Amino acid sequence: MRKKVIAGNWKMNNDIVQTTELINGLKSLIVSANAEVIVCPPYTSLATAQQLLVNSSIKLGAQDVSLYDNGAYTGEVSVSMLKSVGCSYVIVGHSERRQYHHETNEIINQKAKKVLAGGMLPIICVGETLEEREKNITDQVLTTQVKGVLAGLSAVDVERSIVAYEPVWAIGTGKTATKEQAEEAHKVIRNVITQLYSTAVSEKVVIQYGGSVKGDNAKELLSQPNIDGALVGGACLKADSFASIITAA
Ligand code: PEP
Repeated sequence: MRKKVIAGNWKMNNDIVQTTELINGLKSLIVSANAEVIVCPPYTSLATAQQLLVNSSIKLGAQDVSLYDNGAYTGEVSVSMLKSVGCSYVIVGHSERRQYHHETNEIINQKAKKVLAGGMLPIICVGETLEEREKNITDQVLTTQVKGVLAGLSAVDVERSIVAYEPVWAIGTGKTATKEQAEEAHKVIRNVITQLYSTAVSEKVVIQYGGSVKGDNAKELLSQPNIDGALVGGACLKADSFASIITAA
């Protein structure tokens, strides 16, 4: 039985004061959760969040990481830096990184490998654009992305990784995939992992859905057999709305 994993991607939101308020709000609302709960603040808030989360079951994640270990890479943050600030998870390949920073499946694959080698777990994002869905090529797109981002990963590493299915047209738009659309895409992703590895491996992989998840749609999405959690953007910025998604899980 796979555990539900709910992760909040704060994106470029929340200074230190707001971070403190949000984390304290979450701690008071999420006293005991059946799901694994992860918050992914911006880099500047990670140290504050880490201190506030001591003795909490809420885990800390980052939104991205550098491909490099150290040196002359202005503005970049390395795997060991994230590890030292208390991160257990790192989101890689979010569609906003693919779109605005031209990240390819190959780059995302390298980042996922670095995160795993550094003792953290990647949340690896895949998902089709609206144009691709309308052309009826969603399955091919997901297949190519999953093969690309997992290339060369061992079965053990894949089992520990999280894959987030995030249809680009549903991110931040208020348009959620229907539970049938989401379940279908999750099945495609799990089948690709079965082909690449085995049923035993694919049955262990947590596949999250992301795209306008809110308290009022979380339950029906999360009750689908292949949807093992949610990657949440907008609705994770308020403690009560994030907590309502966690309760639904
Ligand atoms: C996201 O950015 O990963 C996301 C799912 O955002 P939202 O929940 O706002 O659609």
